[in-house]
Amino acid sequence: MTDRRSFLQAGALAVGALGLPRGARAGADPGPRVVSTWDFGVGANQAAWKTLAGGGSALDAVEQGARWAESELCNPTVGRCGNPDRDGVLSLDASIMDGDGRCGSVAALVDILHPVSVARQVMEKTPHVMLVGQGAQQFAMEQGFPREKLLTPAAEQAWKAWLKTAEYAPQINAERRSIPGDSSNHDTLGILARDAQGRLAGACTTSGMAWKLHGRVGDSPVIGAGLYVDNEVGAATASGVGEEMIRNAASFLVVELMRQGRSPAQACHEAIARVVRKRPEASRTLQVCFLAMNRDGEVGAYALHRGFVYAVCDARRQDDLRDSSAVYDSEQT
Ligand code: ASP
Repeated sequence: MTDRRSFLQAGALAVGALGLPRGARAGADPGPRVVSTWDFGVGANQAAWKTLAGGGSALDAVEQGARWAESELCNPTVGRCGNPDRDGVLSLDASIMDGDGRCGSVAALVDILHPVSVARQVMEKTPHVMLVGQGAQQFAMEQGFPREKLLTPAAEQAWKAWLKTAEYAPQINAERRSIPGDSSNHDTLGILARDAQGRLAGACTTSGMAWKLHGRVGDSPVIGAGLYVDNEVGAATASGVGEEMIRNAASFLVVELMRQGRSPAQACHEAIARVVRKRPEASRTLQVCFLAMNRDGEVGAYALHRGFVYAVCDARRQDDLRDSSAVYDSEQT
């Protein structure tokens, strides 16, 4: 069991003693590194690594990693195989951000295979940050993205089965508690990269919560909620019930905590504590997971409940899968 108070105090003392600003830590440059949420993060990291290993930018790398999840992975919560909303419509959310504060996102995008790349076009070709729904689809098609029917027969069948009860209850799944990393039950891809020049970038891509209300937008395309990146400090991303991340501007919070000197793990832990403090009752059944990397490449994660895993990839290992065994609920016993 973690003693939260003493480890936060230890962090604060260490920062005070060393006098290092913004979470900076002494040590050798770790080189390029990419981290992603969930076990399918291994595949996303490997796709991103091709870019990083060739000297490419963190921004290109995270886009490649997210594109892999959108098209190659067949998963009920990301990309083309995602489950639809309450009305049977598969709508996708995505965002991308670099460490200089450039960002773009799309929400409730329908029938476009690569929302992360549309998000990047929003960032690069428009004066805006976020496009939603029909406007996002119109923009994507103007940029040359083909419109294609994405809802798979399996997802349609799952939706029809759900309609029989039609109970919408975003919560932790009992299965997920006992089978961390079960491939049938995963969530958003959040990916963070640091390139050889030390630049940071991140991306998120998801079909969001299955059976959500038509028009519901989760945290993943909301900059500061599902994703935040700052070259001066570090980057953070989230998975789980997006409403909690939006309520707490959670990824921004994680980065700001690192700016104050917390390690990535400490910052994720403190952000989870904030979520719990705000809604203690709801926190018993909602899953919230954070993954962060600071500007020196140090990685940390924390989840409210058991089951969160994340993948780390660098020059030494391309398939490193880590269990975020640090979970808040085990501290409450
Ligand atoms: N955060 C996503 C959402 O709320 C879903 C997830 O990561 O589980 O849309």
